[in-house]
Amino acid sequence: MEIDLESIAKERGIKYFLVSYTDLFGTQRAKLVPASKIKTCCEDGAGFAGFATWLDMSPADSDLLAVPDPDGLIQLPWKPEVGWLPADLYMDGKPVDQGPRNILKRLMKQAAQDGLQMKTGVEPEFFLITPCGSEPADIADKQMKPCYDQSALMRRYDVIAEICDAMLALGWNPYQNDHEDANGQFEMNWDYDDALVTADRHAFFKYMTRSIAEKHGFRATFMPKPFLDLTGSGCHAHVSLWRDGTNVFKDSSDEIGLSRIGYHFIGGLIHSADALAAITNPTVNSYKRINAPRTTSGATWAPNTVTYTGNNRTHMVRVPGGGRFEFRLPDGAVNPYLLQAGILAAGLDGMRQERDPGKRLDINMYTDGHGLEGVKRLPLNMLDAMRALENSSVLNEAFGSFVPSYLKLKQDEWNGYCGHLTQWERDNTLDC
Ligand code: ADP
Ligand code: MG
Ligand code: MG
Ligand code: MG
Ligand code: MG
Repeated sequence: MEIDLESIAKERGIKYFLVSYTDLFGTQRAKLVPASKIKTCCEDGAGFAGFATWLDMSPADSDLLAVPDPDGLIQLPWKPEVGWLPADLYMDGKPVDQGPRNILKRLMKQAAQDGLQMKTGVEPEFFLITPCGSEPADIADKQMKPCYDQSALMRRYDVIAEICDAMLALGWNPYQNDHEDANGQFEMNWDYDDALVTADRHAFFKYMTRSIAEKHGFRATFMPKPFLDLTGSGCHAHVSLWRDGTNVFKDSSDEIGLSRIGYHFIGGLIHSADALAAITNPTVNSYKRINAPRTTSGATWAPNTVTYTGNNRTHMVRVPGGGRFEFRLPDGAVNPYLLQAGILAAGLDGMRQERDPGKRLDINMYTDGHGLEGVKRLPLNMLDAMRALENSSVLNEAFGSFVPSYLKLKQDEWNGYCGHLTQWERDNTLDC
């Protein structure tokens, strides 16, 4: 049955709808539409000039139309008169191939044709910093091992509880919140769900966390490595695959509880990892989180190598228990839709090609992983990852025209970064 947003607005006291899409770089773009106009907006879409956002478009292109998906409606818990609606992108009557949400929906539809549904949970880490962005907001939060610090967590109770209350009210089933491994860093966890539901919630979570932090006089950042000596912000994804209500990754007879399909899926991630990094680790700064030297806490908790393991946090893929795995590569900058789409594309390829993930490594990869034969390292910088994406037949096939568009925009970003003269260069080169 069609959802009547105008009646829902009347019932719930929604005055405005925020019709929102996420562009290629993960920025959310929106128009604020009065409730009385939402019916027309659902029929015709909200109009944008695509070129003005991070999309590979031209100023001469037709209107980009964002058509809201009423199933994704989320009433802002901190401002209930506004309803957020994720939107799909159209231009000239056709879905926009490069639209991140469009890509995810397309890939999920393909999986559904084989009777498969991917379910995921994400763990977005973030810092609460001063509004100017220069340091963690809590000046008392200085310990070398600040993870799970009770006092530091409780000094931010008002912010964390407001966000968690919001998730409770929205029915996401949040189940724990903690202070993470860096000073000023937090993580909040809610239940896994269908990959599109998780992607919409992930996008909304970032917006909500920033908004509520701002209300309390802080700034929330998901930047992968805002402080060089501190642990960075990851965004691990936990993944399972379902057919007719059965988790097809589960096999209790296996040593780590994973089915053959599960191993092949992981084999797909391992096969495409370097190309996938261009998506899961999308910024120049991302590469200061992975492959990083030890942080002041003793470990980065980020992977350096394309390896998998059991319940061990020093590899790219961890299998913490039966029937699912954790992908530890993605960071806080990841586009919520491309994250899910990338995992699904690489994983399905692994299943179809029956890719072998290789040997499980149970070692501490940080201390004992040096010089191991056959162990691939993750890309060292954004340009290496971009080149891997360019050469990845798996991701080019799955993502279609998105890849050249994305690479074009990312190349401009890389050029912008390279055009920047750093203090390090001056320090090390003035006397050359
Ligand atoms: P950790 O910090 O140990 O990696 P968290 O508790 O922070 O784990 O996050 C675990 C995430 O995995 C949650 O979002 C949870 O809902 C999700 N999850 C649990 N079981 C599954 C599953 N079978 N499939 C997908 N996600 C799952
Ligand atoms: Mg105008
Ligand atoms: Mg966690
Ligand atoms: Mg964490
Ligand atoms: Mg984790």
